[in-house]
Amino acid sequence: MQVIDGKKISLQIQDELAAEVTRMKAEGRRAPHLAAVLVGNDGGSLTYVGAKVKACEKIGYGSTLIHLGEQTTEAELLEVVHKLNNDPAIDGFIVQLPLPKHISEQKIVEAVDPKKDVDGFHPVNVGRMALNLPCYLSATPSGIIELLRRYNIETSGKHAVVIGRSNIVGAPVSVLLARNANPGNCTVTLCHSRTKNLEEICLQADIIVAAIGKPHFLTADMVKEGAVVIDVGTTRVDAPGTKLGWRLLGDVKYDEVAPKCSYITPVPGGVGPMTIAGLLQNTLLAAKGEIYS
Ligand code: NAP
Repeated sequence: MQVIDGKKISLQIQDELAAEVTRMKAEGRRAPHLAAVLVGNDGGSLTYVGAKVKACEKIGYGSTLIHLGEQTTEAELLEVVHKLNNDPAIDGFIVQLPLPKHISEQKIVEAVDPKKDVDGFHPVNVGRMALNLPCYLSATPSGIIELLRRYNIETSGKHAVVIGRSNIVGAPVSVLLARNANPGNCTVTLCHSRTKNLEEICLQADIIVAAIGKPHFLTADMVKEGAVVIDVGTTRVDAPGTKLGWRLLGDVKYDEVAPKCSYITPVPGGVGPMTIAGLLQNTLLAAKGEIYS
């Protein structure tokens, strides 16, 4: 059994991107520039956005953080999005979700210019992904694919079972695994809360991606010997006596599932760290105009 080290791979990618920034600067080009818009003071969002800005600084990207108040109106936020769409100094930007309830996330996502949509949430990018056209892949699905690629895990002809069909994880992962690409070429079964006989389906899987949000949902009796298990789940649970007072649990009962696997991602340290790498990769593509020229 091999543990897939997402933290190590994410740092490796960041080193590669930093080297690319150095090359760009040596050629007289400016470094990629990512902007992040944060509305309100949600603790999780502040942490995520802070980590993204810090990662940009670390690898030599430019970064801009636009922090707006909780009471910002939808019209005001749309105005900020339009400004960023038209600012030639910004290669790509994200609007951190979730947004306050009075703002339509769909409206905001659709207002972002697809050419600058480095989160890969705009319907144009999602549609292009489904058609296997160049696009910005959203960070979590692309992080999963990147882990499979960098660990040389064979996917062609394999049966992949994806549990969870959300727009941000399960559904795009199922599309990417089924594409005629490498990694890809899987036969995919996409499962959700209405799926019958989930245990039986999982037992037939060569690759399982668990993206449910229910700690320890996937148990050893659902996994066949030698399977590859990717755990996307991250649920915060109280952990009195620890420094943070909480810890993250995955969707997989790691201790009993891991011994049966050929490869498995831990939580934390598996898929999670890959999301920043994916965003930074997209920002470089945006700066180079490699997806949309
Ligand atoms: P979500 O939108 O809540 O979707 C959960 C999915 O799981 C739904 O499709 C749901 O089915 C399905 N589900 C729920 N109970 C089920 C059951 N008993 N059997 C089969 N399927 C079931 O969640 P999400 O946004 O995709 O996130 C999933 C997990 O990944 C969460 O823990 C989240 O925190 C984590 N996550 C991690 C990262 C990362 O970077 N590591 C990124 C994003 C999300 P229905 O559609 O039928 O309701």
